[in-house]
Amino acid sequence: MALVGVLALQGSFNEHIAALRRLGVKGVEIRKPEQLQNVASLIIPGGESTTMAKLAEYHNLFPALREFVKMRRPVWGTCAGLIFLANKTTGQKTGGQELIGGLDCTVHRNFFGSQIQSFEAELSVPELASKEGGPETFRGVFIRAPAILEAGPEVQVLADYPVPSKQLWHSDSSVEDQKVSVEVESKVIVAVRQGNILATAFHPELTADTRWHSYFLKMANDTGEEASSSLVSVHVN
Ligand code: GLN
Repeated sequence: MALVGVLALQGSFNEHIAALRRLGVKGVEIRKPEQLQNVASLIIPGGESTTMAKLAEYHNLFPALREFVKMRRPVWGTCAGLIFLANKTTGQKTGGQELIGGLDCTVHRNFFGSQIQSFEAELSVPELASKEGGPETFRGVFIRAPAILEAGPEVQVLADYPVPSKQLWHSDSSVEDQKVSVEVESKVIVAVRQGNILATAFHPELTADTRWHSYFLKMANDTGEEASSSLVSVHVN
């Protein structure tokens, strides 16, 4: 099994590495751009996206991270990692932090409110159901969690979450034009896949359930096979 990189600047990278270990896979801590060359896929953990972005900038990681995504290497962002991967964010007071981008989504950084409004919820995720009829529900841990408010046509929604209309807008922003009108929606998106990119607004690494990690490893494996078979066809032709 190819090595999985875990961006280890800040946040729950140790928990991701532990979850991978439980599946018999080695997670490699990534702190420098050149280390990305040693891994086939990458997990960007949850944490605090502004701090993570500042550290990524300090270590000159953005060009290499963008290249990694552009090369269609498998990348999974959880929570702050999801924010990092989005093309657009909303819900911050000023311009916000630098993003890697690639995921055709608009993400509200703190949609569900502050730390004390963190919660757990049972999500329905058909993609996680096993062929043997295993459950499709997953207990999501949402910590100061973001939500996806808009997703482009290539984005596959893996899970959404119903929002009671009274709770629909919870902003840390005082800027009027950022008060996007989600009032008409009854659901927000909390897990997506777009080709090589997987993103979850919650923290599977903080639970004992490793199905999201298995899902990502399978996705990484399939993407790797596609990449190597296209390499073979280049050589053959
Ligand atoms: N909303 C947080 C941020 O802006 C992310 C929270 C998390 O990763 N648990 O960074």
